Amino acid sequence: MDRPNFDLSEKERMGLIRLLLANLGQYYNGTDKLKVSRQANREEVRSLVLSNDFENPLDFKHSLSNVLKGLTEYGLHTPHPRYFGLFNPRTSFASILADVVTAVFNPQLAMWSHAPYAVELEYQLVQQFGRKFGYSQDVGGTFCTGGAEANLTAMVMALNHAFPDYGKSGIQGIKQPPLLYCSRETHHSILKAARVCGLGSNAIVPIDTDDRYRIDLELLKSRLESDIASGMAPFMIIGTAGTTGYGAIDDLEGLSAIAGKFGIWFHVDAAFGGALKFSAKQEKYLRGMNNGDSITFDLHKWLSVPMGASLFLTSRPELQGRTFSARTEYMPKDSKIAHGSFPDPYVNSIQWSRRFIGLKIYMALSFHGWKALEEQVDHHLELAEHLRERLLATGWIIKNHTVLPIVLFSHSYFDEDGAFARQLCDEIVHSGTFWISVYPVQGVNALRACITNYASSKEDVEALVKLMNIYVEKYMGNRPAKKSVGQQGSI
Ligand SMILES: *Cc1c(COP(=O)(O)O)cnc(C)c1O
Repeated sequence: MDRPNFDLSEKERMGLIRLLLANLGQYYNGTDKLKVSRQANREEVRSLVLSNDFENPLDFKHSLSNVLKGLTEYGLHTPHPRYFGLFNPRTSFASILADVVTAVFNPQLAMWSHAPYAVELEYQLVQQFGRKFGYSQDVGGTFCTGGAEANLTAMVMALNHAFPDYGKSGIQGIKQPPLLYCSRETHHSILKAARVCGLGSNAIVPIDTDDRYRIDLELLKSRLESDIASGMAPFMIIGTAGTTGYGAIDDLEGLSAIAGKFGIWFHVDAAFGGALKFSAKQEKYLRGMNNGDSITFDLHKWLSVPMGASLFLTSRPELQGRTFSARTEYMPKDSKIAHGSFPDPYVNSIQWSRRFIGLKIYMALSFHGWKALEEQVDHHLELAEHLRERLLATGWIIKNHTVLPIVLFSHSYFDEDGAFARQLCDEIVHSGTFWISVYPVQGVNALRACITNYASSKEDVEALVKLMNIYVEKYMGNRPAKKSVGQQGSI
């Protein structure tokens, strides 16, 4: 049998690359010309997917064209500057190049000996990000696919910390019921992690929040005391720096003090909000972040690199090996390198085969430096501030208190009317001009706009407010007059 020619011929490759570059270039340059989203018809999408028939393959160009068409026509364009949505960024060109390079070289980062340059590069990035976040000296950690994996990593480490026999006996070996504490607003990846660890959702103690959606420290303390008194085993406290819906940042200093007092692992989920560290003016909101044991920080959110790229950082690198070590006969033995012991990534993390994730942020930093990250974060903060100002100036109310670029708002005329927010949001999303969402504040839906794109501008923000005001006038015409409650709640 002939061996398959997966390389294709040089001529075929060049033809495909030209087609690809033309299409990708058009998309990357002209994202703002597209509708942000458009409703997809399942039947149409299905038939496009199945038109690449594996029994009778199409010619290469045709196959590729179908894929490009599918992604262009049937998808929410998160790289669009008028996507004011969940934390999905437009990706920087440097980090796109990194993903291409990685796919071609396909380095295996499980072991230092297989990919010394790539493993060293990630190690140095872990050190540099760890220090940026305030850890001293010996920083531990690993690149992850996303915040969900980083949070899971933290939970397994916390279990190993609190219950030294956990690696061998697992949950069964723990005599007192293990509990972890976080706010009601904590990301649901924590719930999944608790399930994956065999703890179940009952092991999570959700603590109520204050009027700014931050975990209530007094409630946490009294709950810890009563749980310990009744024989439970608290093993982890999770603080969130930037809740997804509201943008709340827990009092990390207060939480770390409580964790320290009770001797419990303190994890900071800073998947989105961690980037505030790059704002000289606003990094103060992350005070206390470095007092804890571990941090989750997503690069594929505010730092504009392609998914999936996240960092798990820990101030307790010695625990990583104990938590994840494993040896098999087929892996090269003892790859401790000459200059000090260098732990192989596969015995220090959940993953085994490992993609070169770190290159995405390394290339972006190599091209633009830390300075560009600072500029990007400040740009987003300024745009959000501009959005708040424009909203307040035209009869809207700001419903959340946060420094993060997440703005929850409702119109004074329709305040307390959650159905209005839903209807307005649907109209705007269906129009394809913008993408926004809704999130409930005190049980009533508010509109939610989050700045996630370095290419978004003041004009984009102003255009959103203008369009919403056109809709509001239309609704006002259709509804009985309601007393205005005025402006409130600005930060
Ligand atoms: C996005 C997010 C997560 C989950 O991270 P993924 O990268 O989506 O896996 C966890 N926590 C917070 C606070 C987040 O914003």
